[in-house]
Amino acid sequence: MVPSLRYLGSACGLARGGFPGGFSGACRPALGRPRPLCQGGRQASTSSFDVVIIGGGIVGLASARALILRYPALSIGVLEKEKDLAVHQTGHNSGVIHSGIYYKPESLKAKLCVQGAALIYEYCNQKGIAYKQCGKLIVAVEQEEIPRLKALYERGLQNGVQGLRLIQQEDIKKKEPYCRGLMAIDCPYTGIVDYRQVAVSFAQDFQEAGGSVLTNFEVKDIEMARESPSRSEDGMKYPIVIRNTKVPDSRFPFLGVHFTPRMDGSIWLGPNAVLAFKREGYKPFDFSARDITDIITKSGLIKLVLQNFSYGVSEMYKACFLSATVKHLQKFIPEITVNDIFRGPAGVRAQALDQDGNLIEDFVFDGGVGIIGNRVLHVRNAPSPAATSSLAISRMIADEVQQRFKL
Ligand SMILES: Cc1cc2nc3c(=O)[nH]c(=O)nc-3n(C[C@H](O)[C@H](O)[C@H](O)COP(=O)(O)OP(=O)(O)OC[C@H]3O[C@@H](n4cnc5c(N)ncnc54)[C@H](O)[C@@H]3O)c2cc1C
Repeated sequence: MVPSLRYLGSACGLARGGFPGGFSGACRPALGRPRPLCQGGRQASTSSFDVVIIGGGIVGLASARALILRYPALSIGVLEKEKDLAVHQTGHNSGVIHSGIYYKPESLKAKLCVQGAALIYEYCNQKGIAYKQCGKLIVAVEQEEIPRLKALYERGLQNGVQGLRLIQQEDIKKKEPYCRGLMAIDCPYTGIVDYRQVAVSFAQDFQEAGGSVLTNFEVKDIEMARESPSRSEDGMKYPIVIRNTKVPDSRFPFLGVHFTPRMDGSIWLGPNAVLAFKREGYKPFDFSARDITDIITKSGLIKLVLQNFSYGVSEMYKACFLSATVKHLQKFIPEITVNDIFRGPAGVRAQALDQDGNLIEDFVFDGGVGIIGNRVLHVRNAPSPAATSSLAISRMIADEVQQRFKL
């Protein structure tokens, strides 16, 4: 028996073993699906897969789709603990198709975001999924912000973001009549989409290609399967057993004021960043003592809080008092008042922190530790823009799985 593995996001494991929890009671139709997600698929009636993906968010589903398209002969399963797919980060995000301007040149985030945005547009066109390539203005309202804006523009050019332009006051007004600013980056490649719809479409592709999606299946533990010589001869390459039960993760920040149009026509203001007191807790007073203990004892959170104390307090203050948020928004749109806005939904961001309290900026994919580490690939840090990058990430994961597990 190995210690249970903790997941920050999703994990791909090469498994050919039993699922002691059993599948029969685990399948439910997912919301908004034309057909039940748990039916169909080559292996739906068995409890054994060649590859298992844990987590039916956009990253897990894109990876499952990439793997089955590349290896149609393998039996592949997605295990999701909720009754519906993509209801956590993927279903609680801002819906922006990011252009890739913000990220450090040469980082995985920068490369995968630029590739991923192109792939998402192409995929939506193929599947007839609605999106809007509405563009984005990144605005400097104070003189002192202009050097930073210009540096960001240069970074965007280095990252290969398409169509970037620096524009002046009068052009800002032409594009956004209510917005005031001294200079802006016009970023026409940015768009918006409903990522839950995209993720569900990935699941559909996956199932049509023969994959199985099992909802209401919470993985608690992964252990080595007993390997009988006869089953090994039978092709059981990396036997492991996956058990149902509980797991944890980690989280924190965002920066800046955003006005984000949504596919439904509303506009979201924010998000600002405050500490969530519960994993998957979307209401202001959601609290879990166990989650808080985990975050405090197992991450560099205390150091992060001490290093960013005044920023954290100001974010908390803005979250409590809408008038404080409005003050910030008025720097960009002076006419806006408290009466024009109301509280919107929240999302909880899974964000890896190192022991020194630094946010881990880039995506992190790696194997686990110990003997079982040779059989799993973890997606340890996939914060924004992982939805934009999901198709590019899935290609990378499929390459890594191919190499690591010698498929
Ligand atoms: C507020 C907010 C705004 C964002 N805005 C954007 C944006 O505009 N553009 C963008 O590109 N990105 C954005 N992001 C980031 C993006 O949403 C995430 O990076 C992306 O959704 C991560 O996908 P995922 O599949 O890793 O995680 P998730 O969507 O959270 O999926 C993980 C899944 O794993 C399941 N799971 C967990 N543990 C288990 C277990 N033990 N057994 C079985 N299943 C399990 C969960 O139930 C969940 O369904 C935003 C994120 C937040 C929080």
